[in-house]
Amino acid sequence: MDSIAILEKLVSFPTVSRDSNLDLLDFVEDLLSSKRFSTTRVYSEDKQKANLLVKIGPEDEAGVLLSGHSDVVPVDNQDWSVPPFELTPSGDKFIGRGTADMKGFLACSLAALLAAKDKSLKTPLWLAISYDEEVGCIGVRRLLDMMVVTETKPLLCIVGEPTLMEVANGHKGKVSLRLTCHGRGGHSAMAPHLLNALLMASEFARVFRLIQDDLMRGDVQDEDYEIPFSSIHMAKIEGGIAANIVPERATVDFEIRHLPKENLDKLMEKLERSAKDIEGYTKHDFPESRIELEVVNSYPGLITSTKEPVAEFMQSLTDKNPTIKVSYGTEGGLIHERLGVPTIICGPGSMDQGHKADEFISRDQLARCDRMFARLLVRLEAGISLTDIRS
Ligand SMILES: [Zn+2]
Repeated sequence: MDSIAILEKLVSFPTVSRDSNLDLLDFVEDLLSSKRFSTTRVYSEDKQKANLLVKIGPEDEAGVLLSGHSDVVPVDNQDWSVPPFELTPSGDKFIGRGTADMKGFLACSLAALLAAKDKSLKTPLWLAISYDEEVGCIGVRRLLDMMVVTETKPLLCIVGEPTLMEVANGHKGKVSLRLTCHGRGGHSAMAPHLLNALLMASEFARVFRLIQDDLMRGDVQDEDYEIPFSSIHMAKIEGGIAANIVPERATVDFEIRHLPKENLDKLMEKLERSAKDIEGYTKHDFPESRIELEVVNSYPGLITSTKEPVAEFMQSLTDKNPTIKVSYGTEGGLIHERLGVPTIICGPGSMDQGHKADEFISRDQLARCDRMFARLLVRLEAGISLTDIRS
């Protein structure tokens, strides 16, 4: 099966993050049902989803790890011109949910594994397929828990999020947070004697604006990013029941997208101090006044030095230097943090098409990714040493 035929199959599994990805993994395991492949599943707690780690090549040797997620974002309320979970050819492109983000990469990776079956690799090729990436890089954490303690660490990791086959060496990290404000509720006629939790929550709009101004003008900048500084974003305020009731509880959901070198502790301190301030000046009259700050989810940013030999290695595969950084997050930050291996983001298609109706990938992008893997297989047959990748 070539990468296009495999992509057709992969797209036909509606692996929206909220649903199971096990049918897709069954297909992958059937496709790779040869003794030459070793496959390991690492399940989610409820066993409805799993990560899959596939390996081919000498056991106990460190391999080149390809990494991709199997889940896709929903198609609800999107205006698709074709059935989203079928691969529809249209001119020089293929339309379908996940074609760009990121089943195109998985299809090319699987085609490369099939091609590797007839070769004798000195350096192994590994593929990690994760679940629940789209909802905060959840699934891969369980796989990494296993890899940290049991596996020979990979030599290098290529995360195949769509970069139009450019080589990216970095992305921002993300922290999702929730503030919960507790005031004193009651009849709205008594509002001046009560503590409106929604008003406490809305005071944070000013705090966020001040913090954003500081970040924008601060020293931590990286011009490789479209937004060259860390950002803070207020996403949702919730509270209140009816106009005649003073709300006693309100929540604010917000997000920080930070440069890898940002001092997050300092940022968190500022937020905690603001929460304490707002709590402080209401506490005298309302002892129950309280603001809780909670981290809901986070993943680290990624920065891989372009001075490392890995840059040259990637150039030999793609004819491109790692010179771009991507604005979206990937599993790369976690992989680099947990396994300590050089990690690069490079995959077919563009994130401009990701998460949208009529998501597509071009034939040319798939062909380029196939070409990168053909070159990689040549290198794996010859054998890759640690010095090819790290200084
Ligand atoms: Zn993705």
